[in-house]
Amino acid sequence: MHLAQQDINNLTIKGMNTNMNKRHLFIITGPSGSGKNTLLKAIMEAMPDFLRIATVTTRPPRPGEVDGVDHFFKSTDEFERLILADEFVEWQPMFGYMYGTLKDTIRSVVDVDTNSFMEIDILGALSIKKMYPDKVVVFFVQPPSLDVLEERIRGRGHRISEEELANRLNRAKMELSYAEQCDHVIINDKLDLATTDLTSIVQSYLGEKIYDK
Ligand code: ADP
Repeated sequence: MHLAQQDINNLTIKGMNTNMNKRHLFIITGPSGSGKNTLLKAIMEAMPDFLRIATVTTRPPRPGEVDGVDHFFKSTDEFERLILADEFVEWQPMFGYMYGTLKDTIRSVVDVDTNSFMEIDILGALSIKKMYPDKVVVFFVQPPSLDVLEERIRGRGHRISEEELANRLNRAKMELSYAEQCDHVIINDKLDLATTDLTSIVQSYLGEKIYDK
């Protein structure tokens, strides 16, 4: 596992030329409630010309979520039809709903060769990284502790049962064990620091000067 500061130094010293002018798909992953969505929104504001890639889900939209932006919201029947038609790069059930990434979506990102962001769970992230190792950069958003994660899940604004909470915390433990397989780990303690870490590392992949030593 690399700390963000080490990542920045390594990229500055060794990787800047090879990464320069190359377009990337930046994947933001991490446990439910770790702050993926919050960080994605913050970085999209800083980098408005990046595409945001939506995945498909059968879960209902949360307040403020927009179809085609946050996710493609589909019925279970539609989702099953897409599975049978072999339209997914990866899909899986999670917390009682289905989630998946369309082949078409990934193909269009690779073909158009643009910089883009997507938010997806760890297993989906690692399977897409395996398919496009040079194109994809995976950020793991890690909460400072499981207690903080619990507080954030409870405080997210939509009601959640104790059973759902326990499921999320259990899955979070599994997901945390994969953090080291990601390209970068962002500890999301103070939001402004986590946003700065994420933005600096993304900028370093774009070949932009990130700070003066
Ligand atoms: P995810 O997309 O990973 O499920 P969210 O972005 O929805 O997580 O964040 C979960 C909750 O935690 C939200 O209410 C969000 O406002 C809050 N949150 C996110 N990051 C921080 C942070 N660094 N400090 C305090 N609260 C945070």
